[in-house]
Amino acid sequence: MVNYKELGLVNTREMFKKAVAGGYAIPAFNFNTMEQMQAIVQAAVETKSPVIMQVSKGARNYANGTILRYMAQGAVEYAKELGCEKPEIVLHLDHGDSFEICKECIDNGFSSVMIDGSSLPYEENIALTKKVVEYAHKFDVTVEAELGVLAGVEDEVSSAVSHYTKPEEVVDFSTRSGCDSLAISIGTSHGAYKFTPEQCTRDPKTGKLVPPPLAFDILHEIEKQLPGFPIVLHGSSSVPQDEVDTINAFGGKLPDAVGIPEEQLREASKSAVCKINIDSDSRLAMTAAIRKHLAENPSHFDPRQYLKPARENMKKMYIHKIVEVLGSDNKL
Ligand SMILES: [Zn+2]
Repeated sequence: MVNYKELGLVNTREMFKKAVAGGYAIPAFNFNTMEQMQAIVQAAVETKSPVIMQVSKGARNYANGTILRYMAQGAVEYAKELGCEKPEIVLHLDHGDSFEICKECIDNGFSSVMIDGSSLPYEENIALTKKVVEYAHKFDVTVEAELGVLAGVEDEVSSAVSHYTKPEEVVDFSTRSGCDSLAISIGTSHGAYKFTPEQCTRDPKTGKLVPPPLAFDILHEIEKQLPGFPIVLHGSSSVPQDEVDTINAFGGKLPDAVGIPEEQLREASKSAVCKINIDSDSRLAMTAAIRKHLAENPSHFDPRQYLKPARENMKKMYIHKIVEVLGSDNKL
């Protein structure tokens, strides 16, 4: 049993309270590799931003949960070494799908877990979330729950269609489950193909897809029902078209990849939305840099030669999100 406090990590409670009051959102970046971790920490330290480093089931399968936990501990120490006296770093389980996986993470140094019971019937979602909350709170670990279903594909999580969160359920759900934050569905979506071309319109000038707007009316109704309660948006990558174009220009094939426009995320950050999940944008930034580097330097075979620009490109993207979209800079 390792408590996250021994690792120098923090839970989300204070962080979310300040973010809701201050009208900004905390970045929640997924990580699987050392380069992603380094880029996240460098970006958070340089912008003086709190940060949530999150681990999906797929990340645990890819990199091993124990290694990822030590990497999070390493992230805290690295942040201090880079000059941040009191880093605020959360190690969060993304999309935990059972009590057992949440317990395992809580017992192994995670400071926050998500229990995703969104595919279950309403009462079962409450019961499962409540069970996780009761265990997590014994160790001062915070719990994110989900109500409503997002479309899209992310690691093992997938759904063909989305079901918007019903504002009339949020008070009952959060009160009875005891969750600390709530992920809602208002039109964001997992993955790099958030919308089909049929759901979008096309910009006549660029030929690029323009996605449908988020359901801000539902968000505002939820805020009215649960004043000040921390709200989470999943599937909130913007799928930067310059990265998609670079990937396609250097041998990739990502036709019509489309994300959530940043101005909508900027608007959401000012509301009770206090955690915004970004995964695909990091994947795209890494892949674009690697494809470009290898195409331009066909003789290179040392991974450091192409992972260095990949890390730089991810860091640039993380800083852009923190400063230009979420507004979490200078909050430490
Ligand atoms: Zn998600």
